[in-house]
Amino acid sequence: MHDFYSDTQTRPTRAMREAALDVPLGDERHDADPPTLELCARVAEMLGMEAALFLPSGTMCNEIAIAVHTRPGDEVICTRESHIIFAESGGPAALSGVMMYPIDSERGMLTPEQLGAAIRPRSAHAPRSRLLVAEQTANLAGGAIWPLEQLNGVVLAAQEAGLATHLDGARLLNAQVATGIPAAEYARGFDSAWIAFTKGLGCPVGAVLAGSHDFIAQAWLLKRRWGGAMRQTGVLTAMCLYALDHHVDRLAEDHALAQSIGARLSVLPLIKSVMRVDTNIVMADLADHAPDARETARRLREKNVTVTVVGPKRLRMVTHLDVGPADADALIDALAGIA
Ligand SMILES: *Cc1c(COP(=O)(O)O)cnc(C)c1O
Repeated sequence: MHDFYSDTQTRPTRAMREAALDVPLGDERHDADPPTLELCARVAEMLGMEAALFLPSGTMCNEIAIAVHTRPGDEVICTRESHIIFAESGGPAALSGVMMYPIDSERGMLTPEQLGAAIRPRSAHAPRSRLLVAEQTANLAGGAIWPLEQLNGVVLAAQEAGLATHLDGARLLNAQVATGIPAAEYARGFDSAWIAFTKGLGCPVGAVLAGSHDFIAQAWLLKRRWGGAMRQTGVLTAMCLYALDHHVDRLAEDHALAQSIGARLSVLPLIKSVMRVDTNIVMADLADHAPDARETARRLREKNVTVTVVGPKRLRMVTHLDVGPADADALIDALAGIA
């Protein structure tokens, strides 16, 4: 299989599994699991935050953060193509009772002006504008990287308006590796931020949510209430620690492969256009004469190549630990073979 479906498709390597074999373990919900405590301390520092907690998924990071930062009836401002809108099963409404204010954005990024226009004047009639959520990198915008000043500027504008701020950093380390700007610079000013371990870092389970001591104390309450408190999580977090040591710098290889796939796709007759590739995600629109995205994906599957359909004519291809240049050749050959 040449699997470009997502960077979530990676299998833990043997070395990663071995890293979990001999670690000391304890009960994480009593703050007694050494690898988990170490991981949380490391991620808090990487993000420039006071504290952090380990969670089973990125979705739980987002949903807990939204619940801590808001009250029912509040409004959350984000881009229309945010993960919290399209892929969290209605969580913000179901779990926090909040309204969403989706903004049509340029490449998944807002400007301070757009944010300002979305913030409602205080009134007994309107919902309370309460929380800004930003994604770095912006998933459905093709892994696009917010420029540092733009991200910092939007956060500052949110703070000045009294909003809380949350950074969905599922692929924040991709941005760090692509630009050389530390994750903490991107997270600067945010009240909470998290990184995923199951995307480019190649772990089987886990995400770490960071914020102030007070924020993390409130997040712990929801982690327990919603069934996210676990026991000997060290078998998972030891693998995450391994990933921090061995799988961060190599994200550059994923980015280079995505660049080359983007360039090769853009000259295929089947492809109308390729979105700018900033990191490890390639978004390609099929030419008018080409079959639609579903049919194209089906034909690719027949040739053992998997991609994601993200629009009627749009395909998404993601590079990761378990695909290399030979898989890219198979992808290009398979696409070139579709009339
Ligand atoms: C994958 C992803 C999530 C959710 O993470 P899970 O661990 O799959 O729940 C949230 N936001 C973005 C931008 C993502 O890509």
